[in-house]
Amino acid sequence: MAKYTIEEMSAQGYKPAPAEYFSGAAWLKPFVIPDENTNCIVSDVLFEPGVRNNWHTHPSNQVLLVREGVCYYQEEGKPVVQVEAGGAINILPGVKHWHGASPDAVMVHTAIGINTEKGIVNWLEPVTDEQYNGK
Ligand code: MN
Repeated sequence: MAKYTIEEMSAQGYKPAPAEYFSGAAWLKPFVIPDENTNCIVSDVLFEPGVRNNWHTHPSNQVLLVREGVCYYQEEGKPVVQVEAGGAINILPGVKHWHGASPDAVMVHTAIGINTEKGIVNWLEPVTDEQYNGK
């Protein structure tokens, strides 16, 4: 069950994240949208408790600034790490990874993508519960 309604989130400037790439309810608040003048993308992403995105890669660095809650983050072949609010993650080009909320709290991060003329994200398979739980 989603924690928030679309009316509540719309009032805060959020729209639903694309459901096919998230394990549950997540919300996007765009700040900078790439166009012919701007090769960068900046948005807040709110993940409801326990929600994470699919495995994916980015063609250029993605920087995540954790704003609220605890960000669960994993690169393929490495353990899940927990980054608290105030922390940042620099994800290198082509590194397969996922990010999401802890099981018990909302997580908000600002996501910054650069060199968007190369593309923004390449979505892959969902994260299993075993992977999310670090098993
Ligand atoms: Mn990412």
